[in-house]
Amino acid sequence: MDTVAIRAEGLEKRFAGTPALAGVDLSVEAGELVALLGPSGSGKTTLLRVVAGLEQPTAGRIFFGGEDATFVPVQARRVGFVFQSYALFKHLDVAGNIAYGLKVRPRRLRPSGTEIRRRVADLLDLVQLSGLERRFPSQLSGGQRQRVALARALAVEPKVLLLDEPFGALDAKVRRDLRRWLRDLHDRTGHTTLFVTHDQDEALELADRVAILAHGRIEQIGTPDEVYDHPASAFVAGFIGDALRLPVTVERGVVRIGPHAVPAPAAAPSGPAALFLRPRDLVAADVRSGGLATTVVGVRRAGPARRAELRLGDGLPPVEIELPADVSVARGDTMHVALRALRLFPERRE
Ligand code: ATP
Repeated sequence: MDTVAIRAEGLEKRFAGTPALAGVDLSVEAGELVALLGPSGSGKTTLLRVVAGLEQPTAGRIFFGGEDATFVPVQARRVGFVFQSYALFKHLDVAGNIAYGLKVRPRRLRPSGTEIRRRVADLLDLVQLSGLERRFPSQLSGGQRQRVALARALAVEPKVLLLDEPFGALDAKVRRDLRRWLRDLHDRTGHTTLFVTHDQDEALELADRVAILAHGRIEQIGTPDEVYDHPASAFVAGFIGDALRLPVTVERGVVRIGPHAVPAPAAAPSGPAALFLRPRDLVAADVRSGGLATTVVGVRRAGPARRAELRLGDGLPPVEIELPADVSVARGDTMHVALRALRLFPERRE
């Protein structure tokens, strides 16, 4: 299949002087699925629109395969899009929507009626909507509509697929189902895909690699395991995995966390640092094994897990721990915990 690698070099985009992209370098291999993840306003949609050709970069270049596509107009880039709000044509049925991109081609590039019907049938099969081709968008569920949108994007045999929060408007259960479905579809079709999301579970579950954006730059790009287990910056450590940031000090081989001291990693420089703790970094411990004494300030339910909020010391924000089913604690109790991971970043002295 005719899918290509995408490479962005030094991409910048300013809107009335304000940078939305502030120097983005990105390489996506042919057939790879990369998620763009980041907080609101970090530049995800702008990056996608620049790759698509819907937006001209202020500086930098974009390559599709070996070809410089920076000034290639959107129609000629052969990209397939799906947006959260990319409404289907209401007056066209499912088959009409999917066939649209082929039917509007100039006559010499347009496949025959038979060929279009064959392609629509194949795509309906691929997105598992066979039998619904005569329905109108108003007669479909939200998840079905997004699958039609995907089939419509695939119909024009794009070189790359660009998805901007395609499941954003759907409820959590449908989102999860579509996520698996999309991963499966991608494994079968192998399109180079850029996928914008602000949902980290979605990014981590779906993507081959995740690019984390902040302030118009890529903070880190890596496999889900790399970005989750080895965040490259304090920003990524705080952003991924529901982490809490604690101010600590490193001195003489120990990390001081409020009244506690734990052995510091060998490479940790002395001075103020930020410690990022996720709920699973803390485990219930025994006093004798040198656990840190904390005070329980609350217990709550978080989906399948029970979590306790613990105070490690005066002036420190409460940290969360996932409680094993057999541990029962209440507000005001003392609970001993051990740290399983020390994600530590020196505090930048500005
Ligand atoms: P969200 O998750 O909220 O969609 P995002 O990461 O996709 O955010 P962008 O939409 O790329 O972020 O926006 C990046 C920055 O550029 C923001 O500060 C935004 O206000 C600004 N911006 C985006 N589009 C325009 C525009 N057409 N005109 C002016 N500013 C814009």
